[in-house]
Amino acid sequence: GFRMGIVGLPNVGKSTLFNALTKTAAAQAANFPFCTIEPNVGDVAVPDARLDTLAEIAGSKQIIPTRMTFVDIAGLVKGASKGEGLGNQFLANIRETDSIAHVLRCFEDDDVTHVDGRVDPVGDAETIETELIIADMESLEKRLQNIVRKVRGGDKEAVQQERLMKMAMAALEEGKPARTVEVDAEDLKQWKMLQLLTAKPILYVCNVDEGEAATGNALSAEVAEMAAAQGNSHVIISAKIEEEISQLDAEEAAEFLGELGLEEAGLDRLIRAGYELLNLQTYFTVGPKEARAWTIKEGTQAPQAAGVIHGDFERGFIRAETIAYDDYVACKGEAGAKEAGKMRAEGKSYTVQDGDVLHFLFNT
Ligand code: GDP
Repeated sequence: GFRMGIVGLPNVGKSTLFNALTKTAAAQAANFPFCTIEPNVGDVAVPDARLDTLAEIAGSKQIIPTRMTFVDIAGLVKGASKGEGLGNQFLANIRETDSIAHVLRCFEDDDVTHVDGRVDPVGDAETIETELIIADMESLEKRLQNIVRKVRGGDKEAVQQERLMKMAMAALEEGKPARTVEVDAEDLKQWKMLQLLTAKPILYVCNVDEGEAATGNALSAEVAEMAAAQGNSHVIISAKIEEEISQLDAEEAAEFLGELGLEEAGLDRLIRAGYELLNLQTYFTVGPKEARAWTIKEGTQAPQAAGVIHGDFERGFIRAETIAYDDYVACKGEAGAKEAGKMRAEGKSYTVQDGDVLHFLFNT
């Protein structure tokens, strides 16, 4: 599955948010009990109303949402890249994630200490980014030294790697994260293998006080401006509210959200934003036994999409019977879609579309 790391300075609300994410009813939905893989790693259901609609049409006994993993990465402080405190371990934890949710304190509260003695989310974002930039530069410096001999020997892959490392280094030296570097399609694979922390897609999470969750505040507006200038996204959330909501059942939660002027829980928005950040899409398998959602990267072809369910489905792939979500709903299910000629037989080169209802045929 895909992993999103929750980072931020101490006392910004990371743990509060993480606890809300993993305790919420949605996280525990379906027949998977919420499983804590490690104390700081949690699997969360991706909310998707389409799945409920499909299950209702097909009369599915079970609904199984697709899931995303969140990792609470504590220990990021000024000097982390120098290995102070939990520094190195925590950098290793970030390296293992696919994307980063950067929590920024946008609430004032004299009872909650700020590590730098002032509430300044944009400054905090810079502090953390600087640490990650330094960590990337240090790892690149070492690798650039080590690769010299291979490059001299004419190793083609090493030449490509060195070129990419130098591109990254040039950006980092200007104080820019590696994600600002434009990389050609043919270099993407090697680029990813550099595993740079600042190359990971980032989402800013503005943690505001309870009363400001619907509107945001002056501090979250500053973050929004910064994020837009960088071409990154942000979400506004109140970790405290989310923690309270996570204790409620669905009906109570809806009522509480209504009172706060919110249409949906911030966590749902966060999970969806995390999904979009990685260009993820969902396809469905639907039958009387279960309606289930599966996650793929945008642009995935049918055999690889089948492989998400099981490796045998990919290896023995023959074709995918495909119904677009809208057609499935309009025709009131598979039989109706078939009759209306809306069920397509798609082969190996078919690019799966978001919302497709699929049935794979394969050789065993
Ligand atoms: P972490 O160190 O980033 O994991 O931060 P925590 O989640 O432990 O939160 C630090 C403190 O800030 C705790 O006492 C939380 O209750 C408090 N806190 C978190 N979010 C909010 C918020 O939105 N408003 C206020 N007033 N306090 C918050």
